[in-house]
Amino acid sequence: MSKRTEISELGEFGLIERLREQIEIYHDTTIKGVGDDAAVIDCGDSYRVVTTDLLVEGVHFDLSYCPLKHLGFKAVAVNVSDVAAMNAVPKEITVSIALSNRFSVEAVEELYQGIQLAAKHYNVDLIGGDTTASRSGLVISITALGETTKESVVYRSGAKVNDIICVTGDLGGALMGLQVLEREKQVFLANPDMRPDLDKYAYITSRQLRPDARMDIVHELRDLGVVPSSMMDISDGLASELFHISKASGVGVTIYEDKLPIDKETYDVAVEFNMDPVTAVLNGGEDYELLFTISPSNYAKLEKHPDIHFIGHVNAPEEGKQLVTKSGTAVPLKAQGWKHF
Ligand code: ADP
Ligand code: MG
Repeated sequence: MSKRTEISELGEFGLIERLREQIEIYHDTTIKGVGDDAAVIDCGDSYRVVTTDLLVEGVHFDLSYCPLKHLGFKAVAVNVSDVAAMNAVPKEITVSIALSNRFSVEAVEELYQGIQLAAKHYNVDLIGGDTTASRSGLVISITALGETTKESVVYRSGAKVNDIICVTGDLGGALMGLQVLEREKQVFLANPDMRPDLDKYAYITSRQLRPDARMDIVHELRDLGVVPSSMMDISDGLASELFHISKASGVGVTIYEDKLPIDKETYDVAVEFNMDPVTAVLNGGEDYELLFTISPSNYAKLEKHPDIHFIGHVNAPEEGKQLVTKSGTAVPLKAQGWKHF
């Protein structure tokens, strides 16, 4: 009898790793295949990047608190975020949807309003897609294409010992926003007369419902003449992403708890939920900020940037991956990430 392996035994990354072993590359124009935020194709004068993401109702979004317009915007933003992570500029998207008969034409139009809003915001052309029926709710898949150059493209694999580790914005907000939305949903289900008061959670709920890809940072780095040595976007949580950079680059990392960026609202809500705010920062998903490393020689150019935080440094692989706590103790970094399986 042939062996049956449960997907949960391998997890998402283990499964991709296993599939990857069987993939062959036939064209030397394919510069980068599976294993980064986007694939990279040599187009002569430029490099093109391609990335795709699939969002499934009930797994990635809940329409009881996620308006369709926001969902449309987010579906584009998460792809643009992967283009940004390659230090590339997005140019085109394709949009594919599967719909159950629960959805009306007006509902699909609402979704598309969000998609078009994002297309305008990120200056991308919607050039095609596919539409089909679904037996189980809404599925949306977007592919984004972007442009960069051989000199500017940034992979997960370029981090060097002594490089400085940087993150943009603040982290953990999207996770705490999700916790609040889930809690209010349960309250509403138990008592439909209760109107949730989300005003005091405006920042974190918007982090969850309407993330914005950091294209601003990609343009600013370009203006400052800084090419990061490695980069990726933070979709699964900082710790998990650091593991990817570490593995791809063959390096270790040290980050400092007191340097991790957290918004006050995120912090307060974590406490409200009896959660360690640092856990939210390290393992919260869907912030769509950028994690990158720079050579120390570039530090002076970014030092005063209000939205770039220097959270640690790259070290030799044998030194491992660690978090230095506020009390000065080094503890091994653990990556929980997001498990859909
Ligand atoms: P991200 O979180 O940046 O979107 P993922 O973790 O989804 O990245 O994917 C990591 C890499 O694995 C990417 O290069 C992606 O294209 C590739 N990948 C994911 N799923 C598959 C699949 N089913 N077949 C081939 N490649 C895949
Ligand atoms: Mg990514």
